[in-house]
Formats: sequence, C-alpha cells, structure tokens
Amino acid sequence: VKGGRREWRGMSDTRILAVANQKGGVGKTTTAISLGATLAAYERKTLVVDLDPQSNCSSGLGWRAEDGAATSYDVLLGGRAVLDVAHPTEFPHLSLVPATPDLAGAEVELVGMVGREFRLRDALAADQTGDFEFVVVDCPPSLGLLTLNALAAATGLLIPIQCEYFAMEGVSNLMTTIEEVRRFLNPGLVIDGVLLTMYDERTNLAQQVAQEVRGVFGDLVFEAVVPRNVRLAEAPSFGRPIHAYDLRSRGSQAYLELGREFLERMEVSGDR
Ligand code: ADP
Ligand code: MG
Repeated sequence: VKGGRREWRGMSDTRILAVANQKGGVGKTTTAISLGATLAAYERKTLVVDLDPQSNCSSGLGWRAEDGAATSYDVLLGGRAVLDVAHPTEFPHLSLVPATPDLAGAEVELVGMVGREFRLRDALAADQTGDFEFVVVDCPPSLGLLTLNALAAATGLLIPIQCEYFAMEGVSNLMTTIEEVRRFLNPGLVIDGVLLTMYDERTNLAQQVAQEVRGVFGDLVFEAVVPRNVRLAEAPSFGRPIHAYDLRSRGSQAYLELGREFLERMEVSGDR
C-alpha cells in the first residue's frame, strides 16, 4: 500500500477477524475473548470489538457499563473513531470497544442509512487502527446488519462450530452470506479458519461432528480443538479471560494452542 502509515507496518497490516456464526451458543463470544486475550498474551497488540447487543464479550473482559462511555454503537452510528472508543483492559496489549444493549437499536437505525454496511469498515480503515495488529470482532447470532458490518470490515472470518447435534445447521446460509458479501461488499473476505468448540472426546457424537466438519471444510479446520471445559463457562462471571482465570485449565491451553496455530496461518498467508 502506497503512502500513509501502512508502509512502515509492512506485513503487520492490521488483520480484522470476524468471529461469526448466526447460530447462538456455539462459542463465538468465548472465542473472541479467549483468542483476543491469547494474541495479547503473545504480545500482539489486539483490539476486541463487541458487536453483540448482549454485550457478553464486554462483561467477559471485565468491562462495566458506565453512563456516557463510548461504545460500538457510537462507532456505527456516531461516526466515532475506533481509537477514541477503545478502552484499555486489565491486560497490556488488549483493548476493547464495548457494547451495551443500546446496540440492538443500531440494527434498526442503520437500515435507513447510506453506506449502512460499511460503518465499521470505515471506522477500521488503515489510518484508524493505530498500531493494533489484530482486531477481533464478536458478532451477534444473526446475519443482520451488525454481522454484515463485521463481514464487510473483516480481512478474515473465524467460524466456531459446536460439536453437538445440528452443528452444521445454518452453515449453508452462512456460506451463502459470505458469497454475497464477497460479491457486493468485500471481495477480499476469506475464511481464516473453522474452530471446533465444546468438544467432548468421550462421546461418539463429538467425534462424528468433528469428522463431518473436517469433511466439509478440510484444512480450514484448525487442528486445535476447544474441549467442553467448565472453566471456560465460569471465567466470564469473573470478568476475566480464561488465561487469567485458570491458565492450567484445558480450555486455556486449547486457546493458547489456537493462537499459535492462527499466528502461524497468518504468517504463511503473509501480506495477502
Ligand atoms: P455464542 O457467542 O456463540 O452465543 P458463547 O461463547 O456465549 O457462544 O457460549 C455459549 C455458552 O457456552 C456460554 O455460557 C459459554 O460460557 C459456554 N461455553 C462456551 N465455550 C465453552 C466450552 N468450550 N466449554 C464449556 N462451556 C463453553
Ligand atoms: Mg455471543
């Protein structure tokens, strides 16, 4: 990229990762928090953007809503710069653009706006992201305008798939949406990876689902698999990412593994 601050950043141009799957409860938020925290633990300056009105990602990172605090709503509807709205977390290298339930209104308010799908993309344009190396966007469980904003802004997509019955339900809708996003909003969008979550190795079902997903997505599926681990479910109520809550847990170890694998993939794909 010529000119501007991209030049000196070379290969470390900001990667914007949307964590998306319109199915609820598949581990999107847990993954956005845990992968964000992992990248930061590896000293990669990372921004987590909460784009879900449920705002579990924000509370899971220890954020408490305060009156007047700027949020992702202000980025999407108020034209606020991301750097203005990025709050520090208790971890070095990790910042958060939080969400509040107000964001539910954004989905409706955006409908009538010009460039409604590109609000987040414009707020994350090259000169807007400072020295963040990674932006991880937690999407809501729908394929509405909030998710479209994430997909239009993203360089890549991470799809968590829960190793349970109906795991692949909705995946074909997601694929259709990705195709449409490529055609109309973001030609460069790629799938950075598919992540198997809540894997219970004691059940045949989990193994069958994993096999099925690997059959469909092949090498896109990360080797790292996130086990069903109660520590992962507990951590958010303490407002701490899993590594801070219980570093020795299997959940923590799995996300550290995922982070290594993700960074390796990013380096191999280079300056795409
Ligand atoms: P989504 O954002 O896709 O709706 P969440 O990440 O919020 O999914 O996960 C849904 C629920 O499952 C949450 O209560 C979360 O704490 C829990 N959970 C997520 N991942 C795991 C896991 N690997 N093991 C156990 N519980 C998990
Ligand atoms: Mg969620």
